[in-house]
Amino acid sequence: TLEADNISKAFSDRLIFDKLSFEVKKGEVLSIVGPSGSGKSTLLRTLAGLEPLSGGSIWTEGRDITKLKANRRPISLVFQEPLLFPHMNTFENVAYGAGLKGKLDKKKIDSLLKAVELEEHASHYPHELSGGQKQRAALARALAVDPALVLLDEPFSSLDPKLRKQLRYWVRDFLKEQQMTAVFVTHDHEEALLMGDCVAVFHEGRFQQIGTPREINRRPANAFVARFLGSHL
Ligand code: ATP
Ligand code: MG
Repeated sequence: TLEADNISKAFSDRLIFDKLSFEVKKGEVLSIVGPSGSGKSTLLRTLAGLEPLSGGSIWTEGRDITKLKANRRPISLVFQEPLLFPHMNTFENVAYGAGLKGKLDKKKIDSLLKAVELEEHASHYPHELSGGQKQRAALARALAVDPALVLLDEPFSSLDPKLRKQLRYWVRDFLKEQQMTAVFVTHDHEEALLMGDCVAVFHEGRFQQIGTPREINRRPANAFVARFLGSHL
């Protein structure tokens, strides 16, 4: 589980989000959808501990992690661009974080590579992988450390539209199979509704609505949500 309790973030005097509270239950995916520049990446970076909060607290599995450094939090972040080390092959990239944490189990890395369908690419280097394969390697690397929570920051945005659609379904099923607790950030409302058990519509530093995809679709809470979903209805 993840609980964010009244979290706020400001850069100097500019408020990015104010007193957000939300919860992600174990094994569930929360989609956060909002326009470009609304502060989605900043929100994920504060959850991961890469950016300090201005107020509030963050809890995973009942434990207050607000004061823990990023590398002490049981949280993995998958970035928009797949960040792989160019001089390491796929196996080494996936194993890297787990190795740092002294949790390296070769069999487990092999089974993760299989789960992301990269077992035949284990000895290939990033430049020998396609965009989708690189993103799947980044996902496997995120899971290799047994995080309590995985954060995905627009993980498909660097991919072409066709691959993007394929990978959506694949990642959704994969997260379910692995029973991961996840926060998935996107600016695409269709993607948000497809990926999330719950969807939070983020705009002007607040959640305009949090609900199941069905609730959001059927009963937009306000004009912003309705307009945001507009092209979908
Ligand atoms: P996108 O969909 O384009 O990725 P986003 O919703 O992820 O956008 P953020 O990257 O979180 O938005 O940025 C939110 C706002 O915070 C932007 O106006 C940005 O300029 C500002 N911002 C982000 N990082 C910093 C920083 N380190 N210092 C000051 N301002 C920042
Ligand atoms: Mg962003």
